[in-house]
Amino acid sequence: MFCSECGAEINDKAVVCPKCGVPVAGKGFDANGRPAVPNHMVAAVLTTIFCCLIGGIIAIIYASQVNTKLAQGDIAGAQSASKTAMGWIIANIVLGLLGSLCYIIPAIAAAAAAANAA
Ligand SMILES: [Zn+2]
Repeated sequence: MFCSECGAEINDKAVVCPKCGVPVAGKGFDANGRPAVPNHMVAAVLTTIFCCLIGGIIAIIYASQVNTKLAQGDIAGAQSASKTAMGWIIANIVLGLLGSLCYIIPAIAAAAAAANAA
């Protein structure tokens, strides 16, 4: 690949351009040279739809803080918000699974009772 800044050819494993020292996008840094921090926004939105609305909204709030803090140069804050968002996403998936069991188990029990009655 080639450096986006000076056009020099860069080894695929390089993290910074050997010629101008600009961080290589996609190697732990974004195109602006800031450390890339995953915001988990897609996962947060999906768990809001499929799992729990309240927990999902909290995850979305933290996910949206990641990009805000990155834009402010608050790398540590962005990484912390990213971790918190992921924690809420995982908790939300667990809650979603438990919640669906609350529907599935009575449905199976009702079906079994109906089968026994017949
Ligand atoms: Zn360069």
